[in-house]
Amino acid sequence: MSANLTALAYLIASVLFIMALRGLSSPESARSGNVYGMIGMAIAVVTTVINPNVVSYEWILGALVIGGGIGAFIARRIAMTDMPELVAAFHSLVGLAAVLVAAAAYYNPGAYGIADADGLLKLASRIEMGIGVVIGAITFSGSIIAFGKLKGLVTGNPITFPGQHALNAAMGAVIVVLVILFTIGPDPQWFWAMAVLAFVLGFLLIIPIGGADMPVIVSMLNSYSGWAAAGIGFTLENTALIITGALVGSSGAILSYIMCKAMNRSFISVLLGGFGGDTVVAGTRSDKPVKAGSADDAAFIMKNASSVIIVPGYGMAVAQAQHSVREMGDMLKQHGVKVTYAIHPVAGRMPGHMNVLLAEANVSYDEVFELEGINSDFSNTDVAFVIGANDVTNPAAHEPGSPIAGMPILDVDRARTCLFVKRSLSPGYAGIDNELFYADSTMMLFADAKKMVEDIVKAL
Ligand code: NDP
Repeated sequence: MSANLTALAYLIASVLFIMALRGLSSPESARSGNVYGMIGMAIAVVTTVINPNVVSYEWILGALVIGGGIGAFIARRIAMTDMPELVAAFHSLVGLAAVLVAAAAYYNPGAYGIADADGLLKLASRIEMGIGVVIGAITFSGSIIAFGKLKGLVTGNPITFPGQHALNAAMGAVIVVLVILFTIGPDPQWFWAMAVLAFVLGFLLIIPIGGADMPVIVSMLNSYSGWAAAGIGFTLENTALIITGALVGSSGAILSYIMCKAMNRSFISVLLGGFGGDTVVAGTRSDKPVKAGSADDAAFIMKNASSVIIVPGYGMAVAQAQHSVREMGDMLKQHGVKVTYAIHPVAGRMPGHMNVLLAEANVSYDEVFELEGINSDFSNTDVAFVIGANDVTNPAAHEPGSPIAGMPILDVDRARTCLFVKRSLSPGYAGIDNELFYADSTMMLFADAKKMVEDIVKAL
């Protein structure tokens, strides 16, 4: 394939990636967005593989079969609730790939076309490589910690120690110096010192992040993985990879900004970490009385209501209750009840989690509202039906010093009755008790979300 044709194919692939991002901005167009992305990726891969510079098709085929096989296996097996940690794990692989590709190119610059006349690494490549390795190593270790926190292998509480910020700042400064030293004289000790220090920094940057701030971190690591990929693109002098990496990097950065706004946090305060996740002292909550009800009670209350707002959260995803919830909503509508759905931007464990589940259950898009679009309606609503959501409704967000302080919440307590479906009085991801469980207008429906909704449907 000629250089011009390759450039044209990459350009078409890049335009398709942009159309994919555009499509993914709304649930209605998300499927077509995915199709554009898949076609773009197919064009990019085929164009790269039929490049005359390819040395060994056996290795490429072997990698495709092994990597594709593992990917297909995981994609078939993965539960929707495990998606966030899978995404974090994939980000870590992008970071690792950036470091390994850089190492391969570093030890053999001639093969990558980035050697000067003396066979040494070109100056521009040293700068790109230095930055790429650092971002890649931070992405790698940071994503592993994020994976551990999301999977529950590492505590969701902030891990802090005295002098932590000063240590991180000092390490950041040393890494900058190492990148400069590597640019001046690309000796192996600078290369590996940069990689190792950045690896440790990635680890240190993510451990102090509390549960409540994980949404921002997941999207931030998404952005880093994009920049790491762009770094590989520079190393390999592959324009498609540079553009794709930059698209992922910048869209991830925009998503981080949106998540920060959703949580009313400044990006810097999240990055510095240490927020969120103080565990509730067991016993404080069990002392207070709660009003518990049954599926029959809930069915009776909702059938006689004129409006119900359903608030889904992580527990609905765990229970896979979305189809039963839609069925319940349809039955209520048959009884003349107005039914709408309210989605908080950080509900669930990944951006758009609830939108995906409701779309999967064929809930009509015009019944689904984001926080700003529906929050004022709660005060005119008979029933807020909160299913597996907790933090996103927690009024502790109004208290300064709380791990979720300042986060806008869905004002479910303004509804005449608030029905809470969950299995116990346990806190949500941020680890804080929810006063609403003990409110006069609240009725707790203790059960697995799917089981409870199925019983309500029967009772209806
Ligand atoms: P929460 O994590 O606050 O609460 C979920 C609740 O669901 C729990 O209290 C749990 O209570 C209940 N639950 C779990 N399993 C079941 C089940 N099978 N049936 C019924 N209930 C169940 O969820 P929210 O969606 O309200 O809030 C999301 C939280 O996750 C926020 O703190 C957010 O910051 C964080 N987060 C969000 C990310 C994102 O991108 N959206 C990424 C990472 C973190 P019980 O055990 O009593 O049943």
